[in-house]
Amino acid sequence: MSQTTQVAPQRSNLAVELLDQDRRKAYLHSRPRKLMNTLARMYRPVLKNRRLVAASAAYALAAGLLPLLGVGVMHTLAGLLAAPGATPRGMLLAAGIYALGFFVLSAASTLLKNRNYTGFASLRIRLLNAALDQEMTMDYGLFESPGFMDDVGGWSRALSSNNAGLEGTYHKIFEMGGTLVSALGLGALLALASPWITLAGLAFVAVTYAAQAHVSRYKHARREELSRLLRQMDNLSREAADFRAGKDLRLYDMAGRFRATFAPLLQANRKLYKAFTQREVQLSVPESLALAAIDLAGALLLARGYLSGRITLAQLVMLLTALSLFARTMQELAGQLAAIKDQTRYVDDTMDFIDADLQSRGGTGSVPGTGPVEVIFEDVSFHYPGHDKLVLEHLSLRIPAGQRCALVGVNGAGKTTLVKLLCGLYLPTQGRIFINGVDAATIPQEQLFALFGTVFQEVEPLAFTIAENVAATDRDIDRARVEQSLKTAGLWDKVCSLPRGMDSPMLKVVEEDGVILSGGENQKLMIARALYRQGTRMMVMDEPTAALDALAEQKIYQEFDSLLSGRTALFISHRLASTRFCDRIVLLDGGRITQQGTHEELVAREGLYRRMFLTQGKYYQEEQA
Ligand code: ADP
Repeated sequence: MSQTTQVAPQRSNLAVELLDQDRRKAYLHSRPRKLMNTLARMYRPVLKNRRLVAASAAYALAAGLLPLLGVGVMHTLAGLLAAPGATPRGMLLAAGIYALGFFVLSAASTLLKNRNYTGFASLRIRLLNAALDQEMTMDYGLFESPGFMDDVGGWSRALSSNNAGLEGTYHKIFEMGGTLVSALGLGALLALASPWITLAGLAFVAVTYAAQAHVSRYKHARREELSRLLRQMDNLSREAADFRAGKDLRLYDMAGRFRATFAPLLQANRKLYKAFTQREVQLSVPESLALAAIDLAGALLLARGYLSGRITLAQLVMLLTALSLFARTMQELAGQLAAIKDQTRYVDDTMDFIDADLQSRGGTGSVPGTGPVEVIFEDVSFHYPGHDKLVLEHLSLRIPAGQRCALVGVNGAGKTTLVKLLCGLYLPTQGRIFINGVDAATIPQEQLFALFGTVFQEVEPLAFTIAENVAATDRDIDRARVEQSLKTAGLWDKVCSLPRGMDSPMLKVVEEDGVILSGGENQKLMIARALYRQGTRMMVMDEPTAALDALAEQKIYQEFDSLLSGRTALFISHRLASTRFCDRIVLLDGGRITQQGTHEELVAREGLYRRMFLTQGKYYQEEQA
C-alpha cells in the first residue's frame, strides 16, 4: 500500500487555526457591523408575513393615537368650560365619547401586541434552533476550547429571553411604531405654537441616544468577560442541580466547596454589573434634568403665547398636556433607539456565529474497499490546541484489518486522546494516520465519522426515547434493528419490562416519568447504538464494559463475534482479563507505546503490563478467597 503518494488536499484544522483570538474574531465577524444590515436580516422573515406587517402598522396607529386623544380631550373640555353657558351634560357627553375612543384604541393595541409577540417568539425559536444546531455540529476541538466558547457563548444571551436580544429588538421596534406616531403628532402640534420646543425634543433624542450608545459600546466590549463568568456560574449551578451529583454532594458535604467556588465568581459578576449600572445611573441624572428643562422652558414659551393673546386658554391647556406627553415620548424614543442599537450588537454576534463555517472542510480522499479497515499511526505526536504538553509522542501503530486490538495503560496515558485522533475529532499535531492506506486528514469529516461505531467512556443518554437513543435519530427508525441491537447488547429484557418499551422517554429532564438506567445499562444502550449504525467498518470502544458487572461483561464478550462481525476493533480496557478476547494488546505509557503483543506474551514478559495484570489478579483472587 502506498502511503507516501497521497497528495489530496487536507481537511482544515479549525481548532488550531482559530486559536489566536484576533484571528478568531476576524473569522467570526468578517462582515462589517452595520445596524441596517442586521435589521435587514432580522426583518426578512417578518416582511414575508403580511399579517405581521399589517398588524404592526395597525398597532403603531392605535398606540400612537392614544396620547393624541388625551390632548384632544383636554382641548375639548377646556373649550367647553371656557364657553359661556357651559353645562355638565355637554362635558359629560364629550368625556364619554373620548372614553369610548380610549377604550377602542387601547383594546386594539393590546390585542395586536399580544398577537404579534407570539409571532416574534417563534422567529426567536427558529434562530435558537439554528444556533443549537451550529453548536452541536461545529468541530469538536472548538467545542472543547474554553476560549472559543467564551467568544461565541454570548449567542444564548441574544436568543434566550423574550425581552432582550432578538425578540427584545422586535418588541422595541414594534413599540417604536406607536412612539413615532405620537412623537409626530405631538411634535407637529407643538411646532405650531413654538418650533423651539420640537427642536429641543429632537436634540434631546439625539444626545441621549449617543450617550446611551456609548454605555452600550462599553458593555459590549466587556461581553467576553461576562460570557466567561456566566458560563462558569452556569456550569457550577447545573452541576449543583444535577440529580446524578446529588448523592456525592450530600454524602461528602460538598455544598461548602461549591459555595466557595461560587463566591468569587459572584463577586466578579457583581463588580461587572456595578460598572455597567454606574454608567447608566450617571446618564440618568443629566437626562432627567434635560427633560425637566424642556418641560419648564416649553411651559414658559406657551405661557408667553397665551399672555400675548396668540393662543387661547383652551389651546394653552391642550398644549401644556401635549408638552408633558411630548417630553415623555422623546425619552421613550431615545430609550427605544438606544436599546435597539444595544441589543442588535448581540444579535449580530449571534448571526455571525450561526453563519460561520465551523466545520473543518476539505479533503478529497476516500477510504477504498469494503469491510474492516486497516489503521496505521505513523509517527504521530499530539498536543491539545492551546496546551504545550505532548499527550502522544512519536507514536507508531498498525492495526491490521479485522484485528481486535486492546489499548491499555494507566489513567492519563493518552488512550482516549488516541481514539479522538483516530475518529477524526482532532488532527495530529505531527505525523499521519492512514486508513486503508489513505491519509485520514484528507478524508472529509462526515465520511470519516461514518466509518466508526463508537462507545465512549462517559455514557450519556439523551432525553429522547430509548429507540431514538439507539437509532440516534427520530426519523425512519428501523425498530427490528433497534430490537436486535438491544438484544445483542443485553438490554432487551430490561426494555421489555418498561411500560412503554423502546418508546419510553429517557431521563427526567423533559418528562417526569423519564427512565433512569444504571451506569451499566447506559453502557449497554451505547453499545446498542454503535451496533445499530449501518456501514461502520471499525468499532472503537473506550472502556465499554467498565460499568458492567462481571456476568454482563462476560456475556458481551461472548457476543463479540456477532458484535464485531466485519469490523476492525479497538478497545480501551482497564480490566486486563477482558483483553484476552483481543488478538493483540498495546500498552500506552506517557503518550508512547512501550509494550505490545498477545496477553500471554505480555504476561510472560517483565514490564508494566505484567505488573498491572498481577496486581489486578491479586485483588480478584483476594476477593474470591
Ligand atoms: P486516558 O484516556 O489514557 O486516561 P486521556 O487521553 O483522557 O488519557 O488524557 C491524556 C492527557 O491529556 C491527560 O493528561 C489529560 O489531562 C489531557 N487532556 C485530555 N483532554 C484534554 C483536553 N480537552 N484539553 C487539554 N488536555 C486534555
